[in-house]
Amino acid sequence: MTYENFKTDLDGDGILTVTWDMPERSMNVLSGSSMKDLGGIIEKVTSDDAIKGVIITSGKAAFGAGADLGEMGSNASASAGDQTHEQKLAKQFAGVMAFNNLLRTLETCGKPVVAAINGLAMGGCLEVTLACHYRVAADDDSIQLGLPEAKVGLLPGGGGTQRLPRLIGAANALPLLLQGKSLRPRKAAEMGVIHKAVPASQLLIEAKRWIKEEGDAEQPWDKKGYKVPGGTPYDKGNSTTFVIGNALLRKTTYGNYPAQINIMKCVYEGTQVPIDAGLRIEGRYFVDLLNRPESKNMIRSLFLSMQELGKGARRPAGVDKTEVKKLGMLGAGMMGAGIAYVSAKVGMEVVLIDTDQAAADKGKAYSEDLLDKAIGKGRETEEGKQALLSKITATTDYDALKGCDLIIEAVFEDRDVKAEVTKKSEVLLSDDAVFGSNTSTLPITGLAKASSRPANFIGIHFFSPVDRMPLVEIIVGKETTDATLAKAMDYVAQIKKTPIVVNDSRGFYTSRCFGTYVSEGVEMFAEGIAPALVDNVGRMTGMPRGPLEMSDDVALDLAHRVRTATKKDLGDKYVATAADPLMEKMVVDLGRYGRKNKKGFYDYPEDGKKRLWPGLGDLVEAKVTTSSPELVEKLKKRLLYRQAIEAARCFEEQVVTDVRDADVGSIIGWGFAPYTGGPLSLIDTVGTAEFVKACDGFADELGERFRPNQLLRDMAETNDTFYSRFNPKGQMAAAAE
Ligand code: NAD
Repeated sequence: MTYENFKTDLDGDGILTVTWDMPERSMNVLSGSSMKDLGGIIEKVTSDDAIKGVIITSGKAAFGAGADLGEMGSNASASAGDQTHEQKLAKQFAGVMAFNNLLRTLETCGKPVVAAINGLAMGGCLEVTLACHYRVAADDDSIQLGLPEAKVGLLPGGGGTQRLPRLIGAANALPLLLQGKSLRPRKAAEMGVIHKAVPASQLLIEAKRWIKEEGDAEQPWDKKGYKVPGGTPYDKGNSTTFVIGNALLRKTTYGNYPAQINIMKCVYEGTQVPIDAGLRIEGRYFVDLLNRPESKNMIRSLFLSMQELGKGARRPAGVDKTEVKKLGMLGAGMMGAGIAYVSAKVGMEVVLIDTDQAAADKGKAYSEDLLDKAIGKGRETEEGKQALLSKITATTDYDALKGCDLIIEAVFEDRDVKAEVTKKSEVLLSDDAVFGSNTSTLPITGLAKASSRPANFIGIHFFSPVDRMPLVEIIVGKETTDATLAKAMDYVAQIKKTPIVVNDSRGFYTSRCFGTYVSEGVEMFAEGIAPALVDNVGRMTGMPRGPLEMSDDVALDLAHRVRTATKKDLGDKYVATAADPLMEKMVVDLGRYGRKNKKGFYDYPEDGKKRLWPGLGDLVEAKVTTSSPELVEKLKKRLLYRQAIEAARCFEEQVVTDVRDADVGSIIGWGFAPYTGGPLSLIDTVGTAEFVKACDGFADELGERFRPNQLLRDMAETNDTFYSRFNPKGQMAAAAE
């Protein structure tokens, strides 16, 4: 027996060990060729009397990462076009069921099959193990077991929505399926997802022991008298699972995510029928998702593009890879402290500088605090904490910067202060060391004027809180070289974050577009739309919070300062809005700065939840206080389209030049509604012609801020899409659909 992706070994007891080890891949994935091999192996197991039992394990560090989404996308687009919609659906359904039939054949082959899970097992690969009669995993906290499909707009289509509730009950299975949460082996064993977690060295020994001593070759759901744990949806006690589950789902997703809705349906409908019917139900809902724009967009932005950007798709070619060994961090405030932490965490030596020792120490104490919390959660050890802290030197002494490969400044947002620290530190650096600014608003080319080596000057813009936010926006100044860009990107890869690359402009890309969300919310309030309605609608669009809440979080005084500076810089070109006098009143007259002084659009009482400030009613008379579905739809569009049109302008102005940067940056940078795939995917999905028409309508009614730019008008003529017109290399072909 020889297979491309599996090695097999039959021992003297008739136990066949099947080791999954795909050539030229760092991880096993469920590709077409893996499935073909698996089919051959199952056939052999079924027909060969010499085989008494089977162990499936992996020859790699991980067991398997899941379905090959890239291949799945290419197949979907390759099969499109030459057939009717019904034929396409039938073909997709047949494809899903072929995999399901394979797993069903495995679990009914009459011989005991064990999954010996030696490492991470996700998605389709975990589903393979669920079709085994016994699951044993290495007891190692770094191993994750999960069905993350929902996170990219899909559902586990290899029986996951059927076998998991049949193993642990719907109430326990639903949170795992809906949120795509993964478990460590010990927790998975506690919950009954796997049978046992044993030391890695015992894995195969335990697998063989079970086959020889127990070896039950029948799944629980194939046994006579089987009942789903906790019962079916109509059983007493379980009905609330679905009633409350549906309500919670609606509350958290506002119906924006078809994957979660379909998962709910799969479990609800599937657990009332025998497994074979349940698998067919799952297959149909899976195919439904494959054809939804939400799933296509989420797979593209949140998986494929994210992966490509993470692997350096935007890194200049032909520049040698670099490594930052010593980082100089200027400013130990909120951002500097976070950047120091994430850098030391991956082993960099960090010099953390502030104007006085107490401030520098406070910055280092931030790391200590995070590490203590991690220790409390069992995710860090005391030795790990000491090792990380020993990497950070908190000081006021600039001489300690000698030997740094990279310096990042996160001092006050003030041109003069930034110029001073640039000059002071640059003289200590080697010729190829890079200087990065974490400014959120000041153009990089302007800041680089203080530098004697503007070619080595670049923007490295982090998001707060640094340890949790995955995005870094890299801003290329007029004189920044490719070598500098490459070095900044190598650093971002070292700290395991995702970079996007943008050109210099006011607010760069992310702050500029995000700003339109909050300012459109304030505009709505200024027009007399009740503030509660404004924020509710904001959340309903899929943004993480309403625009007024987010204004408070960012700080109203900061927004006001940026607005005033923009007004000054633009002079006659500045377009005043109804929000301007309102913000001035809130900040200058009333001293309401937002969450930071516990007074903004909301009040933040010490002893309770935040609530809208009652005084808002005196500022603006609320004219629209009740909503209708039509009004909600219109306001939702206003909030989303306003951001999308700004993203399209950034694209035309070459602030952002790659559709992946624009879409991925929007979702992981400012929380743009993930189900849309990002603002450019949203425009593509709506259709450029329709989008332009809607925006013209808004512009006529509300103002020129909605007027479509020339690029959009050109594209609308032929209903062109961003992903076909600017299709980046390496994107799945489905993007052009
Ligand atoms: P912060 O006020 O918390 O920290 C600034 C720190 O810089 C303070 O500790 C201050 O003592 C120190 N400092 C001032 N002058 C200095 C000097 N000459 N030498 C050394 N240290 C000096 O501010 P922050 O929120 O951390 O922001 C810092 C920078 O990061 C700003 O440019 C800001 O625009 C940018 N930024 C902030 C955020 C955010 O969400 N707060 C996000 C992205 C970027």
